[in-house]
Amino acid sequence: MKDLKQGVDFSHNLIKEHINKGAKVIDATVGNGHDTQFLAEVVGAKGFVWGFDVQESALEAAKNRLQENELSERVKLIHAGHEKMQDYISENVDGILFNLGYLPGSNKEIITTVDTTLQAVKSGLELLAVGGLMIVVVYLGHEGGKKEQQALLDYAKKLDEKKYNVLHYRFINQSSQPPQVLAIKKRN
Ligand code: SAM
Repeated sequence: MKDLKQGVDFSHNLIKEHINKGAKVIDATVGNGHDTQFLAEVVGAKGFVWGFDVQESALEAAKNRLQENELSERVKLIHAGHEKMQDYISENVDGILFNLGYLPGSNKEIITTVDTTLQAVKSGLELLAVGGLMIVVVYLGHEGGKKEQQALLDYAKKLDEKKYNVLHYRFINQSSQPPQVLAIKKRN
């Protein structure tokens, strides 16, 4: 028997369904680079990934992971907050992935925050090409998680339905607080 997909797997499925080879995408929260590697594989040798994180040690781990998997040439890692993405990228992108919260096994005080996350989501939607997909994986278990989720939902609910498909994917009967997914597709 298969359970329904939890948030991270669901987000990866959406990416595989909507992001093609040769796509240009952003990993807004690189951490140790698991998602960056996944994105680099999805976009293939002709695609490109920009990755942002504020933690230098995490970026170093991600850099090693990409090197080991021979993916470095299609990825640019940037040591900066995702809220500054428009200072580094001026072209349209096909996909943007956020995996919020803190990096497991690392400093739990280095965490995404409401204001910078919202700013980054707004900047990201400006960079997103028509037909492009933004995914935000949201965690509620840590301090500030619920506030961040609420602010994101309040913002996303108001996006014009003619311009965006907005989806909120979550389990509603689990006592743990599994990650939720907010997916925003810019419509043609
Ligand atoms: N996707 C990562 C992976 O595959 O390992 C895990 C990401 S972790 C849940 C969240 C990351 O967001 C942390 O590495 C943290 O340093 C980073 N972060 C926090 N604030 C940030 C910001 N303003 N801009 C970019 N990254 C940020």
